[in-house]
Amino acid sequence: SRLAPSEAIRTTCPYCGVGCGVLLGRDGAGRIAVKGDPDHPANFGRLCSKGTALAETLGLDDRLRAPRVLGHETGWDTALDLVAARFSEVIREHGPDAVAFYVSGQLLTEDYYVANKLMKGFIGSANIDTNSRLCMASSVAGHRRAFGTDTVPGLYADLEEADLVVLTGSNLAWCHPVLYQRLVAAKAARPAMRVVVIDPRRTASCDIADLHLAVAPGGDAAIFNALLAEIDRRGATDTAFLRHVTGFAEALAAARASDPAESGLSPAELEAFCDLWIGTPKVVTVYSQGINQSSSGTDKVNAILNCHLATGRIGRPGMGPFSVTGQPNAMGGREVGGLANMLACHLDLEAPAHRTAVQAFWDAPAMPERAGLKAVEMFRALGEGRIKAIWIIHTNPVVSMPEADAVRAALEGADFVVVSDITECTDTARLAHVLLPAAAWAEKEGTVTNSERCISRQRAALPAPGSARPDWEILAEVGRRMGWPAAFGWSSVAEVFAEYAALSGVAGALGSDFDISDLAGIDAAEYDALAPFVWPRNARKNGGRFFGDGRFHTPDGKGRMLPVTPRGPESRPGAAFPFRLNTGRTRDQWHTMTRTAKAPRLNQHLGEPYCEIHPEDAARLGLGAGDLVRLHNPLGAVIARAAISDAVRPGEVFVPMHWTAETASAARIDTLVRAVTDPISGQPESKGSVVAIERF
Ligand code: SF4
Repeated sequence: SRLAPSEAIRTTCPYCGVGCGVLLGRDGAGRIAVKGDPDHPANFGRLCSKGTALAETLGLDDRLRAPRVLGHETGWDTALDLVAARFSEVIREHGPDAVAFYVSGQLLTEDYYVANKLMKGFIGSANIDTNSRLCMASSVAGHRRAFGTDTVPGLYADLEEADLVVLTGSNLAWCHPVLYQRLVAAKAARPAMRVVVIDPRRTASCDIADLHLAVAPGGDAAIFNALLAEIDRRGATDTAFLRHVTGFAEALAAARASDPAESGLSPAELEAFCDLWIGTPKVVTVYSQGINQSSSGTDKVNAILNCHLATGRIGRPGMGPFSVTGQPNAMGGREVGGLANMLACHLDLEAPAHRTAVQAFWDAPAMPERAGLKAVEMFRALGEGRIKAIWIIHTNPVVSMPEADAVRAALEGADFVVVSDITECTDTARLAHVLLPAAAWAEKEGTVTNSERCISRQRAALPAPGSARPDWEILAEVGRRMGWPAAFGWSSVAEVFAEYAALSGVAGALGSDFDISDLAGIDAAEYDALAPFVWPRNARKNGGRFFGDGRFHTPDGKGRMLPVTPRGPESRPGAAFPFRLNTGRTRDQWHTMTRTAKAPRLNQHLGEPYCEIHPEDAARLGLGAGDLVRLHNPLGAVIARAAISDAVRPGEVFVPMHWTAETASAARIDTLVRAVTDPISGQPESKGSVVAIERF
């Protein structure tokens, strides 16, 4: 590409939580082109296959161009009046908890802010949850238990500075490819660096692994408990740092009581891991959905954090636990209080002082006193008629939620469903009573926060088609129509950001670590020019890292170790359903493919639904490579092509999550995933269901 940085718009990739900077402009032939932004601190010019193909996904063929009510095009006033009237009517008749918003990590921070202000401050319910619940909720809950706030302690540079990087429940090579590229480059520059991959599957990330540990599904906590017990046995705790930590004795007792065999690893494998981890001071443990998407996800997170707290390996260069998020704005959504149990700026919805301060700042009429319904509970309540009206924004729960057919049935039977999206061609948009056309990536302005707390601008370079509008504006229009014109009266997205920054000053005064209030006076030109920055902006401690100084955000200022008793997945394989079903991503598709499927080159890599199955299992079932298989359990059935590979363990299969009723008639794998959730985080166990398999 001949795209020149000086002529391009600087924006941020809309896909994964690495949050790469993208230059968007035109090439010598006048075609839209993208390049990695060499000045962005997340990627320094790199892009992965998905980022590189962004320009090919900007086609307008399937775009929603005007609001629709019951399938008929209409004007904005008609559609917005109807949304405001129906929500107001339901609230009047059934109370504020009879309505809900289900939003997305694809929302920009300003969109999230307006949605949360409307639901939590003015409607007076906390029934707003985000698809981040399916992604990082266990990590959020684990952080809050251990640190007092949902704060990622480290930076991407720590992966490069570490002498040992452990990837557990993370196929970084496919799911966070540019961060993986940085790790590969660091290892090439320092060959003594070691990488361990803990994953039931031999994934692409194993290409650089010095050790691959094929853990039993759900066995992660047993590994980190074994590590904690061994840290203590070898006298490898950091006794000085432990003065800043509570709960060590209880965590150690639970670790000693747990059975290492539950990890599925041999004693020799466990010993090799402990030797490496304990013998290498600069260690970073990266974790992602393999840890979080579990009925014991929060405990697994805390089992990892325990080991870092016990050894003081946190918040120091090249050391720390590192949660990598799924979406570009999963972190921004968390910072802005996007989850049903949180308030903005790391404040706690259920803490009266926090609630009162936010209510006063917003001059809000009603604030909920308890957490709202989390994603799985929300759709259950919709199915049972307890929620009468729902607004779904930029997410496709009919494909991505567990027990996806029940979600579809709930939406089919709901009184009032509003969907905001860029397209009508999703399984969820088909069920909307009101469809609102939203501006897409490259058409809208705002900010996102990536996995290392870097806040970076998304910028518009193209006009939105038809009358599509930015989400913050649509939400504010509804807020005004519901009777709160002053509270939702912004005239620009920069004003929304400035208000959010001002609120963070209120949070900072209450002790929150999230304080960007020096930006509260930002004007439109400054907002337009805002360069990426990692918060805390004043980098007051440890070069932008947290907790290395032993100061945590808990009431007593100490880090907390938690006793963890490992629990396996709730569903157990048996005679009728003998296979453990693992789900996840492929390298070149994103979520339910509404954008990536438009790029032909992305469809060439693993272009149809497949089921990775071990050769021994395939032989027993009489399967040959490429045969179609039918996976089923009491929840439903899915058809996929057999991909015979010893990358999976016998008795386990892997099926990607991307395909929809729109793209493949019977491959919505989440129809087979039980809606079992972690009791603390509410995150579903997306990798732990069981199925039977037969040749189709
Ligand atoms: Fe986009 Fe993630 Fe790829 Fe970076 S690594 S270009 S953020 S998909």
